[in-house]
Amino acid sequence: MKRRDLLKYIGLTAGTVALTGSTSIISAAEKSTKSKRVLRIAHITDVHIRPEENAPDRFEKCLEEIKKHKVDFFLNGGDSIFAADYDNITRERVNELWKIWNDTTKGISGFEMHSCLGNHDMWWAAPNKQDKMYGKDYVVKQLGIPNRYYSFDKKGWHFVILDSNNGGGSLDDEQRLWLEKDLQSIPVGMPVVCMSHYPILAVCTHVDGGNHTDSKYISDLFYKHKDKKITCLSGHIHLKDEAIYNNVHYYCNGALSGFWWEPGDKDSAGKTYYKQTPPGYAIIDLFEDGSVVNQYFPHSF
Ligand SMILES: [Zn+2]
Repeated sequence: MKRRDLLKYIGLTAGTVALTGSTSIISAAEKSTKSKRVLRIAHITDVHIRPEENAPDRFEKCLEEIKKHKVDFFLNGGDSIFAADYDNITRERVNELWKIWNDTTKGISGFEMHSCLGNHDMWWAAPNKQDKMYGKDYVVKQLGIPNRYYSFDKKGWHFVILDSNNGGGSLDDEQRLWLEKDLQSIPVGMPVVCMSHYPILAVCTHVDGGNHTDSKYISDLFYKHKDKKITCLSGHIHLKDEAIYNNVHYYCNGALSGFWWEPGDKDSAGKTYYKQTPPGYAIIDLFEDGSVVNQYFPHSF
């Protein structure tokens, strides 16, 4: 082979190798980081809607902003209304709060909304337990959900909605049995989103407390299902928090109402912040391979 021909040959070979090499690197990168997005959901929590502080108007503006993210549906993490649970709350006040909730969410009536119960949503001060507005059943009715806990599937993902309100952040025995059966009933490897009002696990609970008191039971159960990629969503503590334990990712997505729509107090890092967490909502992308991107968007309303 003449020297010139040899150089040509090497050049061509090198070029071919480089091209093939870079092509395979790109396709590998696309596979690992660009799994197909199958769903985009909005997670709003702790709306605490109330007539004061111009909250209805501000909430409607938030919802309009969220719609611009082109979400497939909404998850609502509870404490939808300001507070029905205190002893002095009247029937008129509870009715007023739910009316505002139903009026303000009309703007997103074209979307599915899957809600869970928050500790402030229930009216325990009803005159008696037979009263149609007493306790959880009435909240289930107001939120238009099938039960206080339930599950559903969408685009290859399994969604579990829990009722944390069984004595300060825990599951009752009936719900434990249901959850065990529910997780058993889905296919091996199916990704799961689990929404609760109280965080099942959180890093920042040293600040105020407020996570599930039965975290050990739930994380042990999740470990039995380690074939499934599980992602948990919560609210309640009004703080932005992330924890990972046994490969389960726990996102607490602040509070849409921030400091209950009020300006805040001496610990607020900004207007309407609760401590260092601004009022906001999360936009969550779910991918075909079970991966999740959870982004918290502070709002300025
Ligand atoms: Zn709460």
